[in-house]
Amino acid sequence: MSWDHHFDLVVIGSGAAGMSAALRAHDLGSKVVVLEKSPAYGGSTAMSGGVVWVPNNPQMGPKGIADSREDSLAYLRGIIAGEVPDERIQAYVDESLRVLAYLAEHSHLHLDALEHYTDYYPELPGGQRGGRSMEPIPFDASLLGEEFERLRRPHPQSQVMGKFGITAREAHGYLAADLGGKLRLLWRLIQYGLRWPKRRRYGRDTLITAGNALIARLRRSLLDREVPIWLECGARDLVVEEGRVAGVLSDRGRIEARGGVLLAAGGFERNPAMRKEHQPLAADVEWNAGNHFNQGAGIRMGQAAGGQLALMDEAWWTPVTKVPKSDYAWVLVVEKNLPGGIFVDQRGRRFTNEAAPYLDVVKGMHANDTDCAWLVFDAEFRRLYPVGPVAPGYAQPDQRLSRRLREGFLTRAKSVRELAEKLELPVQAFEDTIARFNANAAEGVDPDFQRGESHADRYYGDPRVRPNPCLRPIEVGPFYAIPVFPGDLGTKGGLVTDPQARVLDEAGTPIQGLFAAGNCSSAVMGRSYPGAGGTIGPALTFGFIAAETAAETAAETAAQGTPAHA
Ligand SMILES: Cc1cc2nc3c(=O)[nH]c(=O)nc-3n(C[C@H](O)[C@H](O)[C@H](O)COP(=O)(O)OP(=O)(O)OC[C@H]3O[C@@H](n4cnc5c(N)ncnc54)[C@H](O)[C@@H]3O)c2cc1C
Repeated sequence: MSWDHHFDLVVIGSGAAGMSAALRAHDLGSKVVVLEKSPAYGGSTAMSGGVVWVPNNPQMGPKGIADSREDSLAYLRGIIAGEVPDERIQAYVDESLRVLAYLAEHSHLHLDALEHYTDYYPELPGGQRGGRSMEPIPFDASLLGEEFERLRRPHPQSQVMGKFGITAREAHGYLAADLGGKLRLLWRLIQYGLRWPKRRRYGRDTLITAGNALIARLRRSLLDREVPIWLECGARDLVVEEGRVAGVLSDRGRIEARGGVLLAAGGFERNPAMRKEHQPLAADVEWNAGNHFNQGAGIRMGQAAGGQLALMDEAWWTPVTKVPKSDYAWVLVVEKNLPGGIFVDQRGRRFTNEAAPYLDVVKGMHANDTDCAWLVFDAEFRRLYPVGPVAPGYAQPDQRLSRRLREGFLTRAKSVRELAEKLELPVQAFEDTIARFNANAAEGVDPDFQRGESHADRYYGDPRVRPNPCLRPIEVGPFYAIPVFPGDLGTKGGLVTDPQARVLDEAGTPIQGLFAAGNCSSAVMGRSYPGAGGTIGPALTFGFIAAETAAETAAETAAQGTPAHA
């Protein structure tokens, strides 16, 4: 094979997994390139909330939260329930701390531990009520210079009024809608106005948050190191020579990878054929909220090289809604917990605890054989809370909604009966559902699905509503509904890897020169989701480890005097 380019590590994909690997590879002295199929770098990571789940992280102690390795392991072992080898779980608990420390010291990626952002199962052994989920500090993207223009845009739902991003900490504070929260939002709006000169130059706001900030911080760190990202350069195939992955066939020719190839091309969420083949439950590419370029290329290349697959029927499930003229599904993580609303199926009945972790809500939809439900709420809910792209009524009353939202998204009716008729639900069943829910909600209880009993349910509740911040009767007309689908943030099945991020073959033996991380690899979290950041944390960690393993292997090969390249 003659090569057009020569590198030590070739990284396929420029999300959290790929960028973390590229950074570490460079610092170990490897010559590294990142291939990115799309015209923008950052993948779904750049569109995400950017939250990173790191148990027992060093910011917890100073914030008064006691955590330990033992508790972290107990928690993960409990929720993962034997789906993933224990050595991989241990690797995550130990190595995520090392990776975090390295990035904090040697890169621009600085994270803030969210002391109130609870684990999703805080009542389970080892669970925490806050501190393990961390978010990137907002970033001045003008520091990227022209490279800012090539940063994938954030998900539209993360932008306040379509204009500027806020942090997870701020988003949680605004929900309380108290005077302090409103004033902080006003101050952010004023600051946004003051950034006008920079906005004019870059065509968008330059103070970025969440996943955009995470990727921008990593990109700035790679720019400092002059690590190249080749955009619009998709990887098509791996080159295998004598049982070892030796390079990549790409849109820019044949690239030699002397130390190995890292598959970090995300999941197969946007590949309808792969979804159909592997996911028997209702799953549609249109119900995915992430990057359209994640079409399973990395998984297919790894499989062709002999890689073993696992968890292919799984995804990072979340209920979503579809907004007319929006390219992406909108994630319903907050709305589902707020008081004064419920989900009903086509039979007009509730079917799950709406305030449960989003993964479990979709599992509830699957178990109920529901591929389209409704979020039903009343005028008080509409007045106080955002619903998808619709701002709270106090800021954006119905008469100020665009026709697109009024006619193509939000269904409005004068009475519960009229709403049932408009949604084509069985009227009696729907009225009975509302009556039963209301009678219990008035007491602050939900004997059917225990909504609001877990501390995690209450994180996105309304603290002003007592005794249960997730429950209030649906009784103030007019009544509203939006559609709900069993969507996802990305798939989580993929190539089976060991704790060193090496891809394993069917016999469990590492394939020489092949690594996988992020949603290309089968999730270290198994079928579960420990807390916010449970996907990006492992992506950063195992990408980083892959770079180290590749460098070690290359050094060993060189020491044995059998150079892997001409
Ligand atoms: C709205 C939203 C919010 C989310 N919030 C969070 C959160 O707060 N915390 C959390 O942990 N998770 C969150 N997630 C999930 C998280 O974003 C993903 O699980 C994670 O970013 C995946 O990282 P990755 O590196 O595996 O893939 P990605 O970040 O998607 O990167 C993969 C890259 O590979 C590229 N690629 C694909 N095929 C090829 C090819 N053939 N050649 C070259 N390049 C290719 C893609 O274009 C993409 O840029 C969220 C997701 C969404 C959509």
